[in-house]
Amino acid sequence: MNEPGDGTRCVHAGLPEPVPGQPFLPGPVFAAPYHLDPWQGPAGAPNGYGRPDNPTRRLLEAAIGELEGGDCRVFASGQAAITGLLLTVLRPGDTVVLPADGYYTVRAFASAALEAIGVRVLLAPTAGPYPSLDGVRLVLLETPANPGLDVVDVADLAERAHAAGALVAVDNTTATPLGQRPLDLGADLVVASGTKALTGHSDLLLGYLATRSPELLGAVTVWRNATGAIPGAFDAWLAHRSLATMDLRLGRQAANAEAVASLLAGRPDVTGLRWPGRPEDPSYAVASAQMRRMPGVLSFDLGDADRVARFVDAARLVVAATSFGGLHTTADRRAQWGDDTSPGFVRLSCGIEDTADLVADIAAALDAAGPAS
Ligand SMILES: *Cc1c(COP(=O)(O)O)cnc(C)c1O
Repeated sequence: MNEPGDGTRCVHAGLPEPVPGQPFLPGPVFAAPYHLDPWQGPAGAPNGYGRPDNPTRRLLEAAIGELEGGDCRVFASGQAAITGLLLTVLRPGDTVVLPADGYYTVRAFASAALEAIGVRVLLAPTAGPYPSLDGVRLVLLETPANPGLDVVDVADLAERAHAAGALVAVDNTTATPLGQRPLDLGADLVVASGTKALTGHSDLLLGYLATRSPELLGAVTVWRNATGAIPGAFDAWLAHRSLATMDLRLGRQAANAEAVASLLAGRPDVTGLRWPGRPEDPSYAVASAQMRRMPGVLSFDLGDADRVARFVDAARLVVAATSFGGLHTTADRRAQWGDDTSPGFVRLSCGIEDTADLVADIAAALDAAGPAS
């Protein structure tokens, strides 16, 4: 067989070999302690205690690891994975470079917790320019960045960082492992929230880290066991079940995003449209060279908060919610969460509704919302 396609890889990711009488994806194993062999103790079985050991979680890690092309550890949330990485790698006196326009909570954590333990935090816009990386321990990239959707050339940054002796981690949340494979592009680590498009059903929180370095994997595993930031067995099982449809979900989401982007591009009452898949977008050149598919998320500006509310209220197929990457189309006015976007800035996450229905609904809702005041 040739290299299998994304749909095939998603359906089979992490599944055990077929065994007659057994399910395709074994159900969740709920256990705190497991039975031990009275003579051999923990050495006698793969599972001793639930914080380090859970077979449902290991199958999910095998699945995500296959898709990212590395070894994976899952966490209770994206934040648990990202802060776990930062606190595993960084020591007092180290310098870390973080995206100035990336996920807001990571920046907030850095200024609250990392600077307090003597880590120097530098912020760089995703699209550049980047500071000199001399003396930097870790560069965290987020591409496409959430919510502004700028991108960075990962291979180029990884080369520069490695020449300076720095590690490179990429937050792959928006792209997903089907959208880009940072480890193939030269990154040392991938971190991501699995809460978004990876699992896509808006019903669980999950994070993960993937790497090809046994040392980094070992250090992160020790960290996770010490801090206990593990997902529960039921969430791990739901996530694995959801992975099987990722290719289908992302395909429809991207098709919807493309159609909505062309609708919005033609409307003079919408400004600041960003979608990396549009040839006119500043991210297009790098995104189309580096990414295997485009995200279902776009962003734009409706001028003020009231017009955003009128738009969402008038729409039948767009609901107000944060997060993104789910089955349902959602709109989030980011400024209401205290991040530093303008009052009318909207991140729109396209769901898997029929494209024609969604485009017609959004056009009608914009008409109904009227102009900004
Ligand atoms: C949502 C998100 C996170 C945090 O993930 P949680 O699962 O909410 O903890 C991190 N990075 C990006 C880019 C995100 O969108």
